[in-house]
Amino acid sequence: MREASLGPDRTDARAIVNGLSVDVEEYFQVGAFENTIAKGDWESIASRVEHNTGAVLDLFARCGVKATFFTLGWVAERYPALIRRIIAEGHEIASHGWDHTRVFTMTPDAFRADIDRARKALEDAGGVAIRGYRAPSFSIDRRTPWAHPILAEQGYAYSSSVAPIAHDHYGWREAPRFAFHPVAGSDLIELPVTTVELGQRRFGAGGGGFFRILPYALSKWALRRVNATDGQPAIFYFHPWEVDPDQPRVAGAPLKSNIRHYTQLGAMAGKLEQLTRDFNWCRIDEIALPLAAGRL
Ligand SMILES: [Zn+2]
Repeated sequence: MREASLGPDRTDARAIVNGLSVDVEEYFQVGAFENTIAKGDWESIASRVEHNTGAVLDLFARCGVKATFFTLGWVAERYPALIRRIIAEGHEIASHGWDHTRVFTMTPDAFRADIDRARKALEDAGGVAIRGYRAPSFSIDRRTPWAHPILAEQGYAYSSSVAPIAHDHYGWREAPRFAFHPVAGSDLIELPVTTVELGQRRFGAGGGGFFRILPYALSKWALRRVNATDGQPAIFYFHPWEVDPDQPRVAGAPLKSNIRHYTQLGAMAGKLEQLTRDFNWCRIDEIALPLAAGRL
């Protein structure tokens, strides 16, 4: 694996433009509830994804930022008008797989079929080519050495599917922290979700519970450190359900899952607005495509 160079002139933290992304899925499709809600029951549960993603689009319009929406094929098939609105407002549509099946639970053939089905649904709904992919729950890791080669074979320009940390649900601790070419002889770029290092320890700092549950000042410090000390853009993500304090409560989930899912939902929109004021943001393809093109 080779680290992709951003060049020596990108050291001014204020000049760095960070990658903003939204993983578009229903509140009941998250990993935290996968043992509580069967996929066969999804159709019978009240949908919130169109409403919540609309709220995210409104917020982005207010704040003047563009982002990448990594969207499930399952969502695109049911809400094509949402896909068209995302594109019409200047954002990027990319793939989050078909139905949030984590990559390390699939065979290579099943993975190929999953991303193909998702891409067709997204392209049918949006009428634009899909260039990027994010694995559900950052599930490309040391168990899936075939995943990046399949993305390269299928013509993807970039992936943002690796969490280079040790986490209880996911993570690939040995992976590079910043953009790299995961497949020899291919231009495919992997942009790992942002981590921050403090001494020997490494923390996930690119969104998720770190951003939503802990004080905003910690995220601001971490992202500044990535920009100023590492001289790299951050890759940040959140979910539409995180801006929805009124979502129905899922009964029967483990306490830890419930705490993670429901804490600080009401504060999220304000935190995101602050984030757009404190840093520069762009779509993920605006970071990935120049890196792929500039490959030596
Ligand atoms: Zn997801």
